[in-house]
Amino acid sequence: MKAVVWHGVGDIRLDNVPEPKIKEPTDAVVRLTASAICGTDLHFIRGTMSDFEPGTILGHEGVGVVEELGSDVRNLDVGDRVVIPSTIACGYCVYCRAGYYAQCDNANPNGPTAGTAFFGGPKDSGPFQGLQAERARIPFANVGLVKLPDTVSDDQAILLSDIFPTAYFGAELAEIKPGDTVAVFGCGPVGQFTITSAKLFGAGRIFAIDQVADRLELARKQGAEVIDFSREDPVQTIGRLTGKIGVDRAIDAVGVEAETSSDGAEMKAQFEQERSRIAPIQKPDHENWQPGQAPSQALRWAVEALCKAGTLSIIGVYPLTAENFPIGTAMNKNLTLKMGNCNHRKYIPRLIDFVRTGVVDPTQILTETEPLGSAVEAYREFDLRHRGWTKVKLEPAA
Ligand SMILES: [Zn+2]
Repeated sequence: MKAVVWHGVGDIRLDNVPEPKIKEPTDAVVRLTASAICGTDLHFIRGTMSDFEPGTILGHEGVGVVEELGSDVRNLDVGDRVVIPSTIACGYCVYCRAGYYAQCDNANPNGPTAGTAFFGGPKDSGPFQGLQAERARIPFANVGLVKLPDTVSDDQAILLSDIFPTAYFGAELAEIKPGDTVAVFGCGPVGQFTITSAKLFGAGRIFAIDQVADRLELARKQGAEVIDFSREDPVQTIGRLTGKIGVDRAIDAVGVEAETSSDGAEMKAQFEQERSRIAPIQKPDHENWQPGQAPSQALRWAVEALCKAGTLSIIGVYPLTAENFPIGTAMNKNLTLKMGNCNHRKYIPRLIDFVRTGVVDPTQILTETEPLGSAVEAYREFDLRHRGWTKVKLEPAA
């Protein structure tokens, strides 16, 4: 079968790989009808995240049809349409039972304290073969797959695999109460769904902070008050627009990406040069960049923009080496800090209901659909942040 395979930093390829097989009685094999490219995948290609094993299939977002079931998967049938939660969880340990699927004791082969297990990630996340492929093996399929109603399309469902649940989790962590004033830092796909989720939690006002025009446009369409940080200081602007009080809740939906944005121009020039030919994605000059050196600008702004006793929610991804945080300011303002990897499985059934009943139509975030065969080119376009390329769906069957 065809799959997008990681060979090295800056080197991904569309390869022919062996078909996945059932290994455990709790496994399923799913034929993917949709996958997607996520900002996190770009970290793996740029090398900003930890150790990757060559040969790992990328991708942690998927929708498909159950093709084969192990004997201990009792709640699904061959032929069922399903969405695949990005994180892998056993469903029976104390963490899973409490809803902390991202902290499952059993899913990660490296042990209970190794970290969150997910599809298509670095060594310390499993590694598990990812979902940018024609088929995938799904461990603990009874909890690792969620059945879809016929009325929810692939275009809608692919956004329920990772980004909408992550955003919803972020809004929940932020403790948004009806009427609250909320700031969302980062208006990429997760940031957009964070705005949507803040509205579902009853936010009174939402500020959306980014520097990309089409992202700010989307945020404004959702009813957020937009702030372009390339034109104005977001902390000062939020202060002015809130009577110097600040926001009740702030959500960092950017993560380490905020720190790498200075590489943007250089990478862009490099890619523009090579755009016309099919070449492997190039490694940016990261040699002098240390993830732990400085706190993310978005994090610092969030801490400063919050009102006294406000809540900071962090769903942007940080590497283990990230250590700096404006702890003094946060402590002296009595801030509450909440953060983590999304417990996808906990939220997906609820979000399917929001989509099924028309409360949310997530497809406005999906801007591109490409066949899996064009995945490498799609990665490059996505990395360049071409205007309008907000979220890319891949179609393995196309
Ligand atoms: Zn578990």
